[in-house]
This record gives sequence, C-alpha cells and structure tokens, in this order.
Amino acid sequence: MSKEHSSVSGQLGECELQFTTIEAIGETVSSLRASFANGTMRDIAFRKQLLRDFLRGLRESKKELLDAVYFDLHKPRAETSYAEYDAVEYELGQFLDNLDKWAKPARNTLAMLQPAFLLSKSETRKEPLGTVVIIGPWNYPLRLILLPAVGALAAGNTVVVKPSEMAPHTALAIGNLVSKYLDPSVIRVVQGGVKETTALLSEKFDHYFYTGSGPVGKIVAHAAAEHLSGITLELGGKSPTIVHADVADLVPTALRIMWSKLTNAGQTCVATDYLLVHRSVKDKLVPLLVDAVAGLYGKSPQKSPDYGRIINARHWNRLMDALDATEGTVIDVVEDQPDENDLYFPPTIVDGVRPDDSLMKDELFGPILPIITYDTLDEAIALVNSRDQPLTMYVFSKRDTADVVLSRTRSGGATVNDTMFTSASLSTSFGGVGPSGVGSYQGKQSFDTFSNHRHVLTRPLWFPSAGVDTVRGPPFTGSDNSWKASTLNSMVYPKLWSLSDSVLGKLLTLIPFWRALAIIPCFLWALIRAKPVVRRRDD
Ligand code: NAD
Repeated sequence: MSKEHSSVSGQLGECELQFTTIEAIGETVSSLRASFANGTMRDIAFRKQLLRDFLRGLRESKKELLDAVYFDLHKPRAETSYAEYDAVEYELGQFLDNLDKWAKPARNTLAMLQPAFLLSKSETRKEPLGTVVIIGPWNYPLRLILLPAVGALAAGNTVVVKPSEMAPHTALAIGNLVSKYLDPSVIRVVQGGVKETTALLSEKFDHYFYTGSGPVGKIVAHAAAEHLSGITLELGGKSPTIVHADVADLVPTALRIMWSKLTNAGQTCVATDYLLVHRSVKDKLVPLLVDAVAGLYGKSPQKSPDYGRIINARHWNRLMDALDATEGTVIDVVEDQPDENDLYFPPTIVDGVRPDDSLMKDELFGPILPIITYDTLDEAIALVNSRDQPLTMYVFSKRDTADVVLSRTRSGGATVNDTMFTSASLSTSFGGVGPSGVGSYQGKQSFDTFSNHRHVLTRPLWFPSAGVDTVRGPPFTGSDNSWKASTLNSMVYPKLWSLSDSVLGKLLTLIPFWRALAIIPCFLWALIRAKPVVRRRDD
C-alpha cells in the first residue's frame, strides 16, 4: 500500500482509504494469474471450503459491513441487511447447496440426433475462465462487489475486486473481510480511484465484470476488447413505471412506486426513474404518492433515521440543477428543504413534466419523481421506445394490458404490479439490454457467466472404420468419390422431422433409434465404396 490517501471520506464517520500502488496492482494480478495456473481452483472441494470461509467472514463482519454502508450512505442498517448483506449470504448458501450440480459436465443428448456422433461422448464442461476483475459502484457498495465475487470464486476463477472509492468505509470493510478470511492466492482487493482503476484495466483479465455508469462501462469494454476478453456490464438508465387506467388498486401502487423512488434516496439502478400515468387516474394517484412518502419517512425525512443521503456534493448539485431547470410543477411533499451541507435531498414529485424536460435527460439517480401524463397506451409505449432500452420497467395494470406493453417494449427485466422485487429473486438472472447492460448474473447465471462452457467430444478411433472415415474430406470429385458428400451430409446433418418431405422420412427422424437405423444404408454404402485415404505403413 502507498502512503497516498483517498480524498473521499464518508459523511458520518472518519475514514481514510489507502489506495493500492500502481506497482502493487501489477504484482497482485500476476500472482493471481500464477495461482490460477497451478490448478488449485479446479478442485470443487477447495472452492466449497472457500465459500464456507467467505460465509464465516461475512457473518463475523456483519456489524462492520452494515456500519460501513451507513457511514457512506446513511442507509439504515435494516435496509442494508436485506438489500445487500442477506442477498450475499443467500447467494453463498445457493452456491454451497448447488455447486456440485452446476459444475457437473452436461451430456449433450441432442447430439444423438446426428448419426455421425454415434458412440461418441458429447459433453459441456463448466471450466473456470481464469483471472477475472470485478469493479463495483458506490450505491449498493457491498452487494455489487460481493455478489459477483461469490459466483466468480465458485466457478473456479481467481479474482480481483475493486470497490468504489466513493464509498470508502465499505471499501475498507470489504478489504478487511477479504484479507482476514479469504485465501490471498485466489482473491485480492485493489483500492483506488480513476488512476488505479485505469492501471487495473490495463492488465489482462480473462473476464471484466463492471457495475456502474454507461460512460465508464465503455472504458471497461475498450479494455476488454484490447485482450479480446469477455465482459459483463451492469449499467443503468431511465427505468419507467407505467400506471394504466385499469390498475386494480392505487393505494399499494403509490406505496410501491415511492418505495422504489426513495430507497437509498433514489440511488438505485432499478428505481422508478419517471412515472407515466394515464390521465384518468393521475389526479387520484398524486395525493396517494404524497401520503406514501409521509407514511414511509414522515413529513420531515431529514429527521428520519431511515432516509438516505446523496453520495456527494457533485451528485447533490447535479440533482439541484436538474430540478431548477424543470418546467414541470413541483408538488409540496415534505416540510424540509434541500440541505447541501447534510447532502440531504428531500423526496420531490414534479407533475406536468414533458418528455423533453430537464428531468428527462439522464438517469436521475435521486429522489425526484417526474410525472408524465398520457392519454393512450400507444403514447406511453412510444415514449418508452423513444429512449434507450432501460434496465427494468414496471407496469401497474391488468395482466392483458401489461402483456401488450411488454410485447411492444424492450428492457433488461420487468415487473407487473410491483417495483424492484425482481432484484430480490436470486434464482433468476439479472442484467440489462443494450445501453443498460451486457450479460447477466446471480445464482446459476453467475456460475455460467464466470465459466467457460467447453464442449468436449470424445470419439472412438475404431469407429467409423478407416474406409467410412474417408467421407470427411477430399477428394470429392471423380466417380469413385461423388457419393461422399451426400453420405457425409446424411451422417452429420440428416433431415429432422420438420425438414423431411415424406412421411417415411419424418418417421425415420422421429426418434434417435430410427435415426440410427436410417444411417445403416449409408454406412453399408460407404463400406462398399470407400477406400482409406491413409494406409497403415509396415514398419
Ligand atoms: P462509481 O462512480 O462508483 O463508478 C463505478 C466504478 O468505476 C468505481 O469503482 C470507480 O472507481 C470506477 N471508475 C469511475 N470512473 C472511472 C474511469 N474514468 N475509469 C476507470 N474507472 C472508473 O459509480 P457510478 O458509475 O456513479 O454508478 C452509478 C451508475 O451505476 C448508475 O448509472 C446506476 O444505474 C448504475 N448501476 C447499475 C447497477 C446494475 O446492477 N445494473 C447497479 C448499481 C448501479
């Protein structure tokens, strides 16, 4: 570690984060590459022990971790517990319970439909990629580093994690957890800001996993492209919530929308960014949204122990500028005012917003809810489609209406009649589409993301016989050889049911047994006609 210190500290606690030196970054990556090469991580039992150590470390560090996130974001410990800590604990449990099953080679039974693979063993092995890097943001600083790290280690990779320097307490707590409980030959933490991350990205990794904003996502994608390595980009965007005229009940709707807007003071990638509401229900919904704020945080959320703070003055001013420039109508929601010194930004609802308003330019990432009113569903769908594909979207309506919306829009995920709960489901994958992300993870999908799906085909040398084997290559011309192409074709790419013209052809391709029988005439024909290309030498 260098003597250089982070200039960023948490608002509620004093903390100096020592940055990793540029030389140490290079050494860290080299040593992790060397330990990957020694093969220890190939052993599933070793990986499971690692996950058990991880779990023990996580549990024993729980207080330190929850305190750290509180100091960085004023996030209530209960919220960090369910939204971050518990998710990581659950993920470790999922992997401990399922790793043996997920890591098992999968037999490719469909290869049986291709007669050329008779007596062959076709399987997909899940192998580690190598040494991977995981770079995380500040808004869920614990979860977004540790959750992918579980998958990366379980899949057998050696791992460098780089927590966000903008959440220094959490970065430090993650560093302590990793150095105290986990094997330094397989996972290490690099601390730092842009300079250190740039140095880290100049190293060759076998996979780059990044969570954060789109502009930095492009930098990471460039770095991965330099080495032709894989990437997962978990990005953001403006995720809409649509409330249609046929919504069943506006009361839970209002609560669920404001919950997503105000959790972590709106600094959540899957928060409702803006609200599209049908004109017929708008006037009933708005007062309920205001009531929901009071119900969650009272009339003075600044005094609430549960209301978060904006991460820093730059982001606070960004929100203030966007609000100052709006042409919408700011509604009275709470009694207190924005307070830069405390990084407090009150829950804010802005009605009558137009699609080209200042609040509609970029992802808000803060507790401001712009409301756009629409008259027809087509109008709402067109507005969503006029923007980049969001990370997620929420539709409050009858199922049929929601299906219309989903069938005509694109987003990474979607939830009908709720918000944000999709991210709590760790048995399903999570990720964006287009500008909101590349790839996905969580649970089994994490294992697959961090694995090389290696197709291994094992063939007997004696089958097919040397003569029949000649079908695979030239010469294809001349009367002695003209039969080869069609035989090869029916052995490798025989007609499947839907491709066969005759009923007999269809029947023959119905089940592998018949398909095996169907190939017998081809083999017989080949046996009669074929001459080995390479003859055995007598030596
Ligand atoms: P951030 O500023 O903490 O940056 C993320 C990481 O990138 C940090 O580790 C930082 O050190 C590094 N970084 C920053 N600038 C860099 C540069 N120029 N070169 C190299 N590395 C650099 O976090 P952020 O980007 O402000 O995060 C907020 C964004 O993340 C939002 O858009 C949000 O929607 C998105 N997000 C997405 C998800 C998801 O799961 N899809 C989750 C959380 C946040």
